[in-house]
Amino acid sequence: MRKIKIEKVVLSIGGTGDNLEKGVKLLKILTGKKPARMKSNKRIPSLGVRPKLEVGAVVTIRKNAEDFLKRMLTPIDNKLKEKQISENTFSFGVEEYIEIPGIEYQRDIGIIGFDVTVVFARAGKRVKLKKRKKGKIPKRQMIAKEEIIKFMEEKFQTEFEWDKMTASDWRKILKQLKNKPAIIQKFLKHNKPKERKIGIAVNKCERCGRFGAHIKSYGLNLCRHCFREIAEEIGFEKYS
Ligand SMILES: [Zn+2]
Repeated sequence: MRKIKIEKVVLSIGGTGDNLEKGVKLLKILTGKKPARMKSNKRIPSLGVRPKLEVGAVVTIRKNAEDFLKRMLTPIDNKLKEKQISENTFSFGVEEYIEIPGIEYQRDIGIIGFDVTVVFARAGKRVKLKKRKKGKIPKRQMIAKEEIIKFMEEKFQTEFEWDKMTASDWRKILKQLKNKPAIIQKFLKHNKPKERKIGIAVNKCERCGRFGAHIKSYGLNLCRHCFREIAEEIGFEKYS
C-alpha cells in the first residue's frame, strides 16, 4: 500500500448576510486567500433560505497544507476524537480563532468559529492510475481510519480519544456484519465484552428479558411482572 499524504485542508464557515461577511473576512485573514462563496440550491422557508442565496464561505489549502494544519490544531490542543474521522477525511470545529498562533482578535469580526476538513490521498496515486485507465475518473482509493490515526500520531503527535461503544453502536455493527458469519465471529472473538458473574446484567428475566425486579427465590429466574402473569400456570397458589 502506498503512503498517504494530506491532499488538502478545507476551511469553511456557514452563515448569511452580515455573519457571512464576517466569515469571509476571517477566512481571508487565516489563509491569505480569497474565499469562495457557497450558494444554496434549496429553498428552506423556515430559515429564510432561497436558491442562490449565499450561505457560507470556503477556502482550500493545498500548498504547505501540513504547516497550515499544524496551526489549526492548536486551538483544539492537538486532540481529536475517533468519531471525527471518516473514510479519507477528518474534520473538526474551531470555536475561537484567537487561539491560533499569529492571529489576533479582530474587533469587526468578533468571536466566531469555523470548520476544518482534512482530506487524505495516496501519494503518487494520480499518475499511476491515469496511465492504466485513460479517460476514466479513478475511483477514490479508500483510506482507513487506522491509517489516518497513524499518520496524525507520527507526523503531528496528535492525541486521539476513543469514544466508548454504546449499545446502539453494537447493534449497528452486528447489523452490518449480519451476512458475513466468518467476520462476525472474528469480530466477536476480539471485541465481545466479558461475561459477567455479578451485576444487574446477570439477573435477566428468562421470559421477557427485563433486567430489573428479578425474583430468584424458589429457583425462579423471572421478573416480578412475568411471575404475576404466570404464577398460577406454573403451580403457585394465591394465599389470602
Ligand atoms: Zn419478565
